[in-house]
Amino acid sequence: MGVIVQKYGGSSLADVEKIMRVANRIVDTKKEGNKVVAIVSAMGDTTDSLIELASGITEYPPKREMDRLLSTGEQISMSLLAMAIQSLGENAVSLTGPQAGIITDSSHSKAKIVRVMSNRLQKELEGDNIIIVAGFQGETEFHDIATLGRGGSDTSAVSIAAALDADLCEIFTDVDGVYSCDPRIVENAKKLEAVSYDEMLELSILGAKVLQSRAVEVAKTHDVEIHVRSSFNHNIGTIVKGEVSSMEHDGLITGIAHDFDVAKVVIFGVPDTPGTAAKILKALADANINIQMIVQSAQSGNINDIAFTCSTGDAKEAASILQEIANNIGAKAVVINEDIAKVSVVGAGMMTHSNIASRMFNTLGENNINIDLISTSEITISVTVGLEECKLAVKALADEFDLIYK
Ligand code: ASP
Ligand code: MG
Repeated sequence: MGVIVQKYGGSSLADVEKIMRVANRIVDTKKEGNKVVAIVSAMGDTTDSLIELASGITEYPPKREMDRLLSTGEQISMSLLAMAIQSLGENAVSLTGPQAGIITDSSHSKAKIVRVMSNRLQKELEGDNIIIVAGFQGETEFHDIATLGRGGSDTSAVSIAAALDADLCEIFTDVDGVYSCDPRIVENAKKLEAVSYDEMLELSILGAKVLQSRAVEVAKTHDVEIHVRSSFNHNIGTIVKGEVSSMEHDGLITGIAHDFDVAKVVIFGVPDTPGTAAKILKALADANINIQMIVQSAQSGNINDIAFTCSTGDAKEAASILQEIANNIGAKAVVINEDIAKVSVVGAGMMTHSNIASRMFNTLGENNINIDLISTSEITISVTVGLEECKLAVKALADEFDLIYK
């Protein structure tokens, strides 16, 4: 008998029939002798529809109200699923994030879970209830609802698994696990048997949508092993954990991530004086704009060009902030390019093999794909390429690094 935490994504709960199927799966898990806590996402595209609804009212919805609105999506799923389970003759109780004791900081729309007060969860489990928790939300110290960012139900699930010291944390989705690259782009993409926290973290940050990166961070901190698998079959999926043996994964490169939601902002002709880069980055940080790659060109004649990437949604605001600074410091121009994508190769093997970058750039060159910005970390190399060339780049690199079934 163990405590099993399961998370069901929106596509697994998209209609009544699917909700009944999930209910049956949860009841089966309970009947095997386990205590079950299920975390749910909003049904299908509910979150997108709610965002659209709000944008019909105002261009800049107040974040507090937006969080209140979006949190209802998960609350619809939780109630319907609890009813479905009760209709199968089992005891079930649904809890909102706050009711489940999820306490967050107050950064609305991207809140972090600071604590899970698990007494209510413990009490319901002792009462032999199956618990259904609305994912993606918690309560701030001011008793307001805050949401955890897109994909945040994953983080709800891992945090609850950590708080309950669960025996298993299963993330149910509509694909069979974590793939080496996006199977919608690369048809024969390999499914990974196991992947380490560090590699999964990079893949998630760099664009893989299968797990929210914050969920991987929490899993790593609390050593929660995650099983990512399909809710549509009983196949074994992918295990995300600390150490992956060479039996489970032997390639140099574990995966390729890509991100279409990237824009490049360049400030041309920045005077080369100490403190200038700091001034630019501070202004962006103050506006809560997340910067990814940062590149400063080799200095020529006491001026530099500074380029960076951010999400497409932030690009215009970033450019207008920078235009003001450019005027103050005498930089020449600020230019945005939204027609780019980022492609990254990720693999712990990079730490011991020096030729990965040359193989990557060679492959892109052979396919006539121009590389724009480049950035690296210990286990990743990222480049930006033209938006149109992104898919070809992913396919060619998957082939080069043996990430497809042949
Ligand atoms: N419903 C939210 C979203 O669509 C959270 C989640 O699904 O994890 O992003
Ligand atoms: Mg998701």
